[in-house]
Amino acid sequence: MNGSLRSGSTPVRHFLPALLFILVSCASGTTAGTAVPEDLRISYVISMDDAVNHNFRVTMTLEGISQDTVVLKMPVWTPGYYWIQNYPKNLSRLEIRDGAGRECAFTKTAKNAWQVYAGGADRLTASWVIYGNSHSVADAFIDTTHAFIVPAAILLYPADALTAPSRVTLDLYRGWTAVSTGLEPVATPADFGKTTDTGGKPADAAGVAPSQGQVWTFTSSCYDVLFDSPILAGNQEVMTFTVNSVPHHIAVLNPGTYDREALKRDYAKVVESAVSIIGEMPYNHYTFIIMGRGMGGLEHLNSMAVFTGREDGDIYPSDRQSFRGWMEFIAHEFFHLYNIKTIRPIALGPFDYDKENYTNMLWVSEGFTVYYENIIMNRAGFMTPDEMLESLSRSITAYEAIPGSRVQSATLSSFDTWINFFSFSENSQNTTISYYDKGCGLGLLLDLKIRHSTGNRKSLGDVMRTLYYDYHKRLGRGFTDDEFRTECEKTAGTDLGELFGWASSVVRPDYDRYLGYAGLYLKEEAPSAPGGRVRFVIKRKEKMTPEQETIYNDLFREIK
Ligand SMILES: [Zn+2]
Repeated sequence: MNGSLRSGSTPVRHFLPALLFILVSCASGTTAGTAVPEDLRISYVISMDDAVNHNFRVTMTLEGISQDTVVLKMPVWTPGYYWIQNYPKNLSRLEIRDGAGRECAFTKTAKNAWQVYAGGADRLTASWVIYGNSHSVADAFIDTTHAFIVPAAILLYPADALTAPSRVTLDLYRGWTAVSTGLEPVATPADFGKTTDTGGKPADAAGVAPSQGQVWTFTSSCYDVLFDSPILAGNQEVMTFTVNSVPHHIAVLNPGTYDREALKRDYAKVVESAVSIIGEMPYNHYTFIIMGRGMGGLEHLNSMAVFTGREDGDIYPSDRQSFRGWMEFIAHEFFHLYNIKTIRPIALGPFDYDKENYTNMLWVSEGFTVYYENIIMNRAGFMTPDEMLESLSRSITAYEAIPGSRVQSATLSSFDTWINFFSFSENSQNTTISYYDKGCGLGLLLDLKIRHSTGNRKSLGDVMRTLYYDYHKRLGRGFTDDEFRTECEKTAGTDLGELFGWASSVVRPDYDRYLGYAGLYLKEEAPSAPGGRVRFVIKRKEKMTPEQETIYNDLFREIK
């Protein structure tokens, strides 16, 4: 292999402080007609003293508001989880008072909106209770062992103030000593009684008396940051490792027994491998929130929340297959901090928290993330070329072997995620596909096409870097469907109408021609048992041309 033809990774260029990253995220949320009062100050206190009843008691204080009527809202969904959750269903006992303690009348004007008659008061205090008893990455949970706070699921906010900063104080359940989140800390229990460096006020200025539990305070630069920063509070174990001097915290409930130093080294390898694809770390700290009982995982700005699905919270399986499966999952959620959080379709941020945010592009945001799981794991030394081929074959089989592949396109699957993804039925495979699976298959074909048409001088990685540096960093926004195709074609130096046609239609892709660029082909294997499903398996040709060999060896790297 000729080293000069290698592509797909770049050295880490430099580290962007998270503050700048967050400012960029918030600045892009400023739109005409959303004037935030200049003096508006928003602070929350989340009390966990009623954990035994699964209740959060929340207080929001607005200062500098001075309007006759104020509209308060609550999100109906949370970023990354494309499903209308109707969070206000868990809210009760809403009370609103002015600065003099007088009760303010309010009217409910929508399922997630309240019009408050504030009478020009400068200060309003709203308090409410949220019931949290669901083990999901998109729901709030609290009992006497821990609390998982999904901010969109428990916080009201002043309408038209989505770009405003706010402060969140946590009053922990007694005996809890740990808080894990991507938010920036203002004050921890160690700071009480001292003067903070953020305005000269004592850390307990929020008026919280830490009579029972610890009190922690965090700040957020806007609601797109706050609503994308879950919080785990309890007595979780926190393990910290650094990559290029940037701290990464693994916060885990009910940890198992394993070699913690080896675990940190392996998690660091996944981070390094993912970072090498884009070449920059857009955060100054990252938190892995890992819980036990529950399902799934969700990506966030500079954190992830995942469940092991087991009580013991095994986050470092000892058998190779389970280890690979778990680390692929971690690699997937981690790579989202690029692909969807910074490299994103224009519809996915700034968010509208009142309703569905439609995009045709989840086959790129989710499907390519599945594709990159394989590359990250291979570059980290955890997945052999044969295992990569096996994994990619599984993704292709998942959609090509079901009737839905000739009924629903990848773009329609993306658009309709709001009504399809969590409404799986016995008929789903007849009429729908997963944009995760087909997006992964198309990501592989696109990568091969770009490599072939550029003599392996360019790859899909070059497209991802262009979207990151030119759109996210330079323009401060996401990309349109057309811009995405244009950037792919510019990188490939050729028309990609055929491939984009496969994304937006149900025409079967010409796998063998595209796989052939790397000396591969797709073999259809009959079901192993009557009534079983056909399998599609990517195979290596016996003889490869030098060009095929170059592309194959660059993409499917031998591991040491
Ligand atoms: Zn994902």
